[in-house]
Amino acid sequence: MKISNTKSTKRVVLKSFFLLIFLLSFTQNSKAQELKLKYFGGAGWEMIEGDLNILVDPYISRLKLGDSPANSKKDPRKNFYPKDVYVSDTVMIDKVITKKVDFILVHHSHLDHLADVPYIAKKTGATVIATETSCKILKAYGIPEKQLLRVRGGEDYQFDQFSVRVIPSIHSALNDKHYYDSRMHTDEIELPLKLEDFIEGKSLMFLIRFKNHKVLTAGSMNFLEREVEGLKPDVILPGVNFSRLEIYKYTERLMALTNFPKIVIPTHWDNFRVPYGFSQEDAIEKKIKPFLKEMELASPKSKVIVPVHLETITIK
Ligand SMILES: [Zn+2]
Repeated sequence: MKISNTKSTKRVVLKSFFLLIFLLSFTQNSKAQELKLKYFGGAGWEMIEGDLNILVDPYISRLKLGDSPANSKKDPRKNFYPKDVYVSDTVMIDKVITKKVDFILVHHSHLDHLADVPYIAKKTGATVIATETSCKILKAYGIPEKQLLRVRGGEDYQFDQFSVRVIPSIHSALNDKHYYDSRMHTDEIELPLKLEDFIEGKSLMFLIRFKNHKVLTAGSMNFLEREVEGLKPDVILPGVNFSRLEIYKYTERLMALTNFPKIVIPTHWDNFRVPYGFSQEDAIEKKIKPFLKEMELASPKSKVIVPVHLETITIK
């Protein structure tokens, strides 16, 4: 009697032990599947899945630019003009970027996409995937060649924990469609770099394939139809600044071409000339609200998540 009792107790203990192991591995697996997105403002993002950390267009300095009406009278910082030397707000960057970073992806070389990347690449040692123009700028800042992967669009690269398709794209049609800039940095350049040295240098989009999510990113309010057609991301980050309105049926076409993604997170819509913590109500009223209306018609089944600066969005 005694013996069989001990045996059955042992069996129960063993069973519970295996159940616990199973439950633990299940929770760990489901945690590893989560994708965590943090919005830096502009077209800037931190994307973490498990152990992998990818930054996209991390622009954190949010300089007060020129005499733009978008500057705030409550902002005591100095104004930066095109001929001024660019200076990153390293205090703010050190506050925001505290984890290890594996990769930095850059859509184009304008300052609101690239200008903080030299400091962040130096600080983290991350590998940068960007155009020749961006890489020339990064080299000027002393980023070693081994940290730079030059791309032109069309590459589809496999890494240990993810793959990325580099998509040729075009820049937003700024200034009532008067935007056109074919300049590139092809020769070595020297420091110090002025704000005006951050030229576009061609535009890209990225399809980042994480283990469980495919994310399509953008740095502009524009795209090449044949390049995005049939991509089927489950998360899309479309540019939602005013210049999207220059493009023929921008939202409707982008959603249809990409198979009506399940999750849509608007990017590049905030006023990036003011520091974190300043009101974004005006941008939400004038850009986000009309975009939400466009989405009701363009892809009513998509879930639209409006990001808040420095807050994490968890995608299961
Ligand atoms: Zn730009």
